[in-house]
Amino acid sequence: MSTQSEFSLIETYFTDLTASRDDVYLGIGDDCALLTCPDGHVVAVSIDTLVAGIHFFADVDPESLGHKSLAVGLSDLAAMGAKPAWFTLALTLPDSSAPWLTAFSQGLATLAKQYNIQLVGGDTTKGPLTISIQVHGFIKPEQALRRDGAQIGDLIYVSGTLGDAGAALQLKLQQWDDEALTAEDKHYFYHRLEKPTPRIDLGQSLLEFATSAIDISDGLSSDLAHILKKSDVGATIDLAKLPLSSSLQNISKTKAVELALNSGDDYELCFTIPADKQKLFESTVDGTYRQVGVIEAELGLRAINVDGQMDTITGSGYDHFSTNS
Ligand code: ADP
Ligand code: MG
Repeated sequence: MSTQSEFSLIETYFTDLTASRDDVYLGIGDDCALLTCPDGHVVAVSIDTLVAGIHFFADVDPESLGHKSLAVGLSDLAAMGAKPAWFTLALTLPDSSAPWLTAFSQGLATLAKQYNIQLVGGDTTKGPLTISIQVHGFIKPEQALRRDGAQIGDLIYVSGTLGDAGAALQLKLQQWDDEALTAEDKHYFYHRLEKPTPRIDLGQSLLEFATSAIDISDGLSSDLAHILKKSDVGATIDLAKLPLSSSLQNISKTKAVELALNSGDDYELCFTIPADKQKLFESTVDGTYRQVGVIEAELGLRAINVDGQMDTITGSGYDHFSTNS
């Protein structure tokens, strides 16, 4: 993008977009941002890229896209138990449409203000629509909720409800429909796909209790499998316990469970809690979450299916590089 238009675009849409934080010594406008980290903490960093046509539909509402671009990064901070601080934005645009940029930056700004995360820099280029956001948060290193901490006997929990975003995606791609679904149900699914809620507060509350955590971006079966692999343990989950929204309960149980287990984009948290902390955890920590399984010594992921029978799960969550997805 030409230098002048790049500067005015940044000035118009991205400078002073978000709340200003005391720990930003120098924000947007120089070669680098200058940032300070509180004593005793380290910086948790994560980057995600959303490409038009692959991670979102090119005609998606830009306000929702602004929200989601930041929400996926915030979800990674939540899964680590980190407190959001700053983000950078690399934006590749085919053109600079004012209504699109206004709506996109509003979606971004609303969520950023909600979680007190400040935009401190970025890069703007011309090309096929692509959004990369790098988020930064604070964490005491010894407290971080890593994937490798699950212990045999720990209880497995998930937050919110699962499968809603997956239902929206399948509806949108016309891969599936169900006549029992009302317009409100479908609207709710699309809302879950386009405007995920990062579970930042829950992530912070888990610091005292959880032995491991991950956010569910690809599907419970594949994301839980990451915890199992890193922690060198196995698990059994009870499919009848998977939390389903009232909209997802309107479809067949088999299909709903399949979506809840294997579809991605929900951005809920999956975490493990030692059994002896269960009572204290459940009585202290607010939020919507449910125990769905238990960590075991036997490797692999097993499920008690809705008929009470044991199944093995091979992990068919979304895999960008698998040949059949
Ligand atoms: P440089 O040439 O030093 O890389 P740029 O011209 O790319 O600087 O950017 C100028 C300033 O604007 C920098 O501080 C950069 O971080 C910021 N910036 C560029 N694009 C964005 C964006 N999309 N969002 C936020 N800040 C941006
Ligand atoms: Mg640059």
